[in-house]
Amino acid sequence: MDPAFAINRKDESSAIVFRADLLAARFVLPDGSQTTKALEVRFDPLLSTSSRIAEGVVLSKADEQALAPLQASNSNCPFCPDSIARVTPKFLPPIHENGRLQQGESVLFPNLVPYSQYAAVVVFSPRHWLPLNEFTPQRVFDSLSVAVDYIRRVHSFDPRIQHCSYNINYLYPSGGSLPHPHAQVFLDPHPTTLMRLQAEASFRYWTAQGRSYWEDLAKVEEARAERFVARTGSTMWITAFAPIGFNEVRAIVSNRENLLDLTEDDLNALSLGISRVLRWYESIGYNSFNLALYSGPLNISSGWRVHLSMITRTAVLPYYRSDAMHMERLHWEAAVDRLPEKIAADLRAYWATL
Ligand SMILES: [Zn+2]
Repeated sequence: MDPAFAINRKDESSAIVFRADLLAARFVLPDGSQTTKALEVRFDPLLSTSSRIAEGVVLSKADEQALAPLQASNSNCPFCPDSIARVTPKFLPPIHENGRLQQGESVLFPNLVPYSQYAAVVVFSPRHWLPLNEFTPQRVFDSLSVAVDYIRRVHSFDPRIQHCSYNINYLYPSGGSLPHPHAQVFLDPHPTTLMRLQAEASFRYWTAQGRSYWEDLAKVEEARAERFVARTGSTMWITAFAPIGFNEVRAIVSNRENLLDLTEDDLNALSLGISRVLRWYESIGYNSFNLALYSGPLNISSGWRVHLSMITRTAVLPYYRSDAMHMERLHWEAAVDRLPEKIAADLRAYWATL
């Protein structure tokens, strides 16, 4: 571990505390020599949940040959142009008169699997296959924008619906069931577990400090410059101090509490950043990812700020080791390979070239 990063971690002068414990694992190698491996346990400054950054964790990288079967056109794909209007479901007329929403290349319709009460799918493009560098700002913008339009329609149709998010699972290792690029809208009377924990903790912070946790975090991260990547428009891009997953990048949208507050400029800034991070993911050898854009409750002001998290997953391979093991699934604890400060330095350098 680079000792330079230890200095700021011990600075607890702000209300936001970056707590970490550096540990050393010592053992004897088969050749008889002693070795020491670094382990760092970090605590999320909002939730106190812990993450482990362990030397030796391996996340498999992309293999072009393994992608070939997914890239080929597939007559059974329900999201391809020949099928989408025939086989995908439609909304009830009060939500949308034509049953599906469209903006640019994006088409939005109900999810056959109701992960939330008003779950929807957004297909990005008629193209069956998009490499990560073709999730262009325009494609991401159209998909986000049609999702916000849908959330507004549902919220006026059913005001009990308070909790929403925009999410992507891309390729099988991420949990995505179809390779045709699509996003998922969550809209429900109940938040997910993480959204509830974040709402409770950031409300406590707001009550105690009189300021939004997310605005304070943006200020502190920019001042420390360890995990700061860039600002674009109203959005700030950082790596997570205590990551949930590999190569995690987060963004905070200044002064916007929920997805219905987002302006066209905000959506453009988010789209540009998402597109850049995906290009970077591809450049470092990954192709499968998850993304979540979290909204605060639609009717209540609570100090929340719209924020986003993106992670890489194990690349597509015929037989691969999942990056979600007992730690992530049964202990709610991530074990990742690289320091967030080094990830931020790499992404910052890449971002500057775009
Ligand atoms: Zn398709």
